[in-house]
Amino acid sequence: MNLRRIALVTSASVAVACLLAAPIAAQVEPQELVDQVSLDAYQYCLDDMLYTHDGDNRGVNGPEHDPARDNIRDAFLSYGLWTYLHPFTYQGRTYHNVVGVRKGLVTPGEQYIVGAHFDSANTPGADDNGSGTAGVIELARIFTQYDFEDTLIFIAFDREEQGLVGSYAYANEHRNDNILGMVSMDMIAYNTGNGTCDVYGRSASDPWKNALASAVNRYSGLTAIVGGQMNGSDHAPFESIGKQAALIIEDWGNPCYHRACDSVDTPNYIDYDYAVEITRGTTGLFAESAGLLGLDTRCDDLTKFKTRCKQGGQLVVKVVFSTDAYDGRTVIVDLDEGELMELAIKRNKAKTKLCCYEGRHTVALIDPQQCAEPKSVNCG
Ligand SMILES: [Zn+2]
Repeated sequence: MNLRRIALVTSASVAVACLLAAPIAAQVEPQELVDQVSLDAYQYCLDDMLYTHDGDNRGVNGPEHDPARDNIRDAFLSYGLWTYLHPFTYQGRTYHNVVGVRKGLVTPGEQYIVGAHFDSANTPGADDNGSGTAGVIELARIFTQYDFEDTLIFIAFDREEQGLVGSYAYANEHRNDNILGMVSMDMIAYNTGNGTCDVYGRSASDPWKNALASAVNRYSGLTAIVGGQMNGSDHAPFESIGKQAALIIEDWGNPCYHRACDSVDTPNYIDYDYAVEITRGTTGLFAESAGLLGLDTRCDDLTKFKTRCKQGGQLVVKVVFSTDAYDGRTVIVDLDEGELMELAIKRNKAKTKLCCYEGRHTVALIDPQQCAEPKSVNCG
């Protein structure tokens, strides 16, 4: 959240205050995903992955900035997302948003995005915005266990505090994408105790804002209050390119906003339960919107993940399933710590042969995730 802008807007808006695929899976309701939002998983992200303790700094030149970014990337990869660092320039230096893509099985061109900025205002940034980032990571953990008609994209934005620099860079490069809805989770863990959270966006985003608010009201113990235009968070660049987008944020009143005490170590400060409620509401929205098909069962049906090196450095990777149900789908492998490749499944196999490798390599199965150990292969 960006102070100058929110100060302006808050005073101005007091009045509103705030088939193709479908393997074998049984029908799944959005509530099933909502019920998987975990306090323990959320707290682990916020406390142990994002450098949100006293003295930590994810701001410009902050020593914990890059390690936090890398932890987010590793989490996305471990959940089976097609993950990349999206570079952009700010004041002559290159920074990166972390982007994780879960491709839709029926209408992959139709996209939904949930994002949160992971940088801070040179503070530990536990609430602003470790809290929203942990929410996005938790959504990624849950949604990657399921198949959807539409594509889901998870983004941790950088350099929000300097004026939404990372989210503007992403939105401007993706203005021709068919983005059907975007949510920015920004400051969701400070609880004033009145049982509400706020949803903001331009009037053009009203359908999406109302869908978000009703999901919060249905799937969380909170009441969402729908406000108007608010340009201080990462949803705004998406509105500026004509997309439906909304901010979800705690009831305003955090005394540690942009201060050193915005830390998980501050006593009686972070309300994990409240953040989980907001995360539940956001989960409900995307589970309802993106065309939920059912559980991704590929992991259960995986029978082989093999790699070897043939003469001439030809690297062979083979993934085999026990059924033809995934014909036409893809798997993602990491060929060498960051070199992702998507392989088409034909009948029950995905296979590739690549030239010309030397030395030792590690090949990991990224999607479906965590169903096989990485393999080490020696190409001589
Ligand atoms: Zn901020």
